[in-house]
Amino acid sequence: MMHVASRCPSIDTFLGELDSLGANITGDAVVEMLVRSRLGIDDVAPYVTPQADTYSRRRVARTEAYEVLVLTWLPGQGSGAHDHAGSVSAFKILSGTAHETRFARACDSLVDPIGSRELHDGEIGLDAGDVIHAVRNDRASKEPLVSIHVYAPPIPELRGFTSRAAEEVPAAAFLRRRLPHAPVVAIVGGGYSGAMVAAHLMRKAAHADQPLHVVMFDRQTSIAEGAAYRTPDSSHRLNVPASGMSAFPDRPDDFLRWASARDPSIGPYTFPQRHAYGEYLRTTFFEAVERAGAKCSIEIRPEEIDVVDRIDDGWRIRCSGSPRLEARVVVLATGHRRPLDPLHQRWSGSRARYIEDPWSSLALSAIEPNESVCLLGTGLTAIDVLQSLLRRRRTGAVVGFSRRGVLPAAHRETALPLIDPLRWLEPLLRPDGRITTRSLTRQLRRAIHAAEAGGQDWRQVVDGLRPHTSTIWRALPSDEGGRFLRHARAFWEAARHRMAPTVAREVSGALDAGIFRTAAARVIAARGALDGVALTVRRRGAPAPEVREFDWIVNCTGPGSGQGTGLPPVIAGLIGAGCLEGDPLGLGVRSTPEGLAMVRDRIIDNLVVIGSMRKADEWESTAVPELRVHAALAAEAVIQRILQPH
Ligand SMILES: Cc1cc2nc3c(=O)[nH]c(=O)nc-3n(C[C@H](O)[C@H](O)[C@H](O)COP(=O)(O)OP(=O)(O)OC[C@H]3O[C@@H](n4cnc5c(N)ncnc54)[C@H](O)[C@@H]3O)c2cc1C
Repeated sequence: MMHVASRCPSIDTFLGELDSLGANITGDAVVEMLVRSRLGIDDVAPYVTPQADTYSRRRVARTEAYEVLVLTWLPGQGSGAHDHAGSVSAFKILSGTAHETRFARACDSLVDPIGSRELHDGEIGLDAGDVIHAVRNDRASKEPLVSIHVYAPPIPELRGFTSRAAEEVPAAAFLRRRLPHAPVVAIVGGGYSGAMVAAHLMRKAAHADQPLHVVMFDRQTSIAEGAAYRTPDSSHRLNVPASGMSAFPDRPDDFLRWASARDPSIGPYTFPQRHAYGEYLRTTFFEAVERAGAKCSIEIRPEEIDVVDRIDDGWRIRCSGSPRLEARVVVLATGHRRPLDPLHQRWSGSRARYIEDPWSSLALSAIEPNESVCLLGTGLTAIDVLQSLLRRRRTGAVVGFSRRGVLPAAHRETALPLIDPLRWLEPLLRPDGRITTRSLTRQLRRAIHAAEAGGQDWRQVVDGLRPHTSTIWRALPSDEGGRFLRHARAFWEAARHRMAPTVAREVSGALDAGIFRTAAARVIAARGALDGVALTVRRRGAPAPEVREFDWIVNCTGPGSGQGTGLPPVIAGLIGAGCLEGDPLGLGVRSTPEGLAMVRDRIIDNLVVIGSMRKADEWESTAVPELRVHAALAAEAVIQRILQPH
């Protein structure tokens, strides 16, 4: 099952010495070993595999304590500014010259260069855990750069930073001290939701001439991007066309204008790259801070917040790496919950070949093109993973398993007008309409048949329903909500969350080539070894389970929601303290239409929730077309609370 390139004896000796260091490997010990081992380019020849699009990373070995990689960089290839998430990182140049730039993080979370150097053949670089750097092989260089890297412990994520453009300085609001008596608003989470609430707050406070100090916490290094737009993979596309992705509800063309100014081929119905959208959000956020009034200040603290305590007239945020903070208002923008682990308690043996979180930036780079991969799930996360796997010329099979084996539908190649559902929906929503999951799906099917009979497309019906989904969700009795989750959710989501046309073509190509297959099957058990996993699955309709062997299993169930999904500690703590109320379906927490927390019908007017935790009341609360409205409403609610006499 394993397809590891044959290793030369000096590499085996090197790995043996690393093993002898035990669990706590220090940077000095690795450097000493790299010096002593005299590893050279010939020792790593099987791992030197240049790629045209980006530098290649080949895994030599991985244990709980360390990971060893060989990196090959063609002239002009390089990394962005990144750190190693606290791991020790030591590397030796085996061929060519590395240009390393080091950075320091500034108060606005961007990084500024603080020095650079060249490392030549045989030289060693070390990061004991706190270095932010970028490495490249100069464009003018004549030869590939090859380096061997040791990370201890293995890093799940190269945390990317954005470097500031030359000669720019942080916006004044980042440099300004908090004015005495300026109320503090703490925002937990700096993804789209947190960053856009901050952007609106800056504008609204300036407009009201209101002093304000905003503190935004995020454990990640990037601002506004979150898991969705942090991806460096250029094949990952938005699943909403450019015309629907403005960050602001009152300026619907904002993103389209920004994107088409940079690339005139982008039109209203283009599905741009997700990382470009991340750049738009960052730019938008920084522009808002730039325009903040003279009485406003803002801080970004790179921290995870687990505990928020209620105090007299506000909240105390317990911080681990900075002074604790007292805030008048707290905004919870914690975003997506961790994916459900479908193999929880059904796994035995080593988990070395199980990728539980496909969004951690390095997870997939360990998979070789000839290795077989099983995707658990066949939704948009599985499509993201498939696209990343297809970046390298793939010969190993990729199989996607899900209960129904249904792939997401594709967007049409051209835009079509929405079909208004009110004629059939309105009677269901009347107080005597007794809306149920069954009546809803029956009427929706009828509307689709009618549209198709008239030469229209089912997507026009589904998209026409979207502006009404929150109203429908609120009207459904809660036992009907449960019925929807059990029986209709998978079909609704496959129809509603669709692939961009370019992505759909790539997936069809992989299906036609026989590289990708899907199956309706239930995973019963997994037995992991160091070099692969035996999966026991029962296909839909099959009389007995079968055992399938894969080199890798990737959890593609996507962001978690519903019963059995763990709540972030900060949310669980606030529920425990009676400051938030969870919903019976486990989708999130109760909130008013403005996003104010609600506990047993009592509004808590200084605690605001935004993002997927609001699915409990909104259902549609995860994508930009809804979140941009929620962010504006949430900021207005915060400002109103602050303007009240203290
Ligand atoms: C792969 C993927 C693709 C998507 N594509 C699209 C698309 O094309 N169009 C669209 O409209 N929507 C898309 N979405 C939906 C997308 O999630 C939203 O558009 C939006 O990014 C959600 O932002 P958020 O801030 O609510 O959550 P997140 O992006 O999850 O951000 C939450 C942030 O909070 C931080 N955080 C969480 N807890 C804490 C804590 N306790 N302390 C400190 N920091 C914390 C996290 O580090 C994270 O940065 C996609 C989602 C995914 C997952």
